[in-house]
Amino acid sequence: MSQFIVCLDPGHGPGCANRSPDGSYQEQEFAYDVAGRVKARLEARGVEVVLTRDAEGYPSLSQRCLASNGAGAHAFVSLHSNAAGNGGWESASGLEMYTSAGPDTAPRNVLAQRLKERFEAERVALRTVPIRHYGYAVLTGTEAPAVLIEYGFHTSRSDTALLLDGSYREKLARATADGICAFLGVAWREETAGESDRDTVQRRFRLADETMDYLSAYQYADALLQRLATGA
Ligand SMILES: [Zn+2]
Repeated sequence: MSQFIVCLDPGHGPGCANRSPDGSYQEQEFAYDVAGRVKARLEARGVEVVLTRDAEGYPSLSQRCLASNGAGAHAFVSLHSNAAGNGGWESASGLEMYTSAGPDTAPRNVLAQRLKERFEAERVALRTVPIRHYGYAVLTGTEAPAVLIEYGFHTSRSDTALLLDGSYREKLARATADGICAFLGVAWREETAGESDRDTVQRRFRLADETMDYLSAYQYADALLQRLATGA
């Protein structure tokens, strides 16, 4: 039996009208897809995951809270994307998170802070005020420390392009899972199987692509990366 249970709440459901102005992006599809990616990463570290809906489901807000409370979740994360304006493209962009209220020392805000650190490490663009407070039903009705993540604006052309991109979704999922694990105190489990030394080093030390290119150009790069990757 797992020590920890995490409830992931993919926002909305099929038929929801929240989409990009050009119709290429649906918030509910993004939310469900990224939740699945986070789930896989948490389960790989031995964390039990409960989803509030499947691909076809569209539960009410109180049903989502019940799913978390019934499971006895230790953390609740709701996945969304943001919107601005009245149906056209807008300039507002970036990731922001919500918890129900302060203070900063409340577990929900510590969870948000751990997530923020991981998004920063992954160089995800954050809003000027990345952690805000609002009494969303899924935040006030859940017993577990709860955070709602607005991963970007589907009314921004540049954010929408990112939110549609599979590798960007992986990056968001990695940061989300890492942040949750950091909050829970779940030990970092190295996922080195089948990974190149370069990838292991980049992940372990959280280095930028440019830094890795620079390192790889070094005359003894292969030996150096191998030493760093194996911790020798
Ligand atoms: Zn939403």
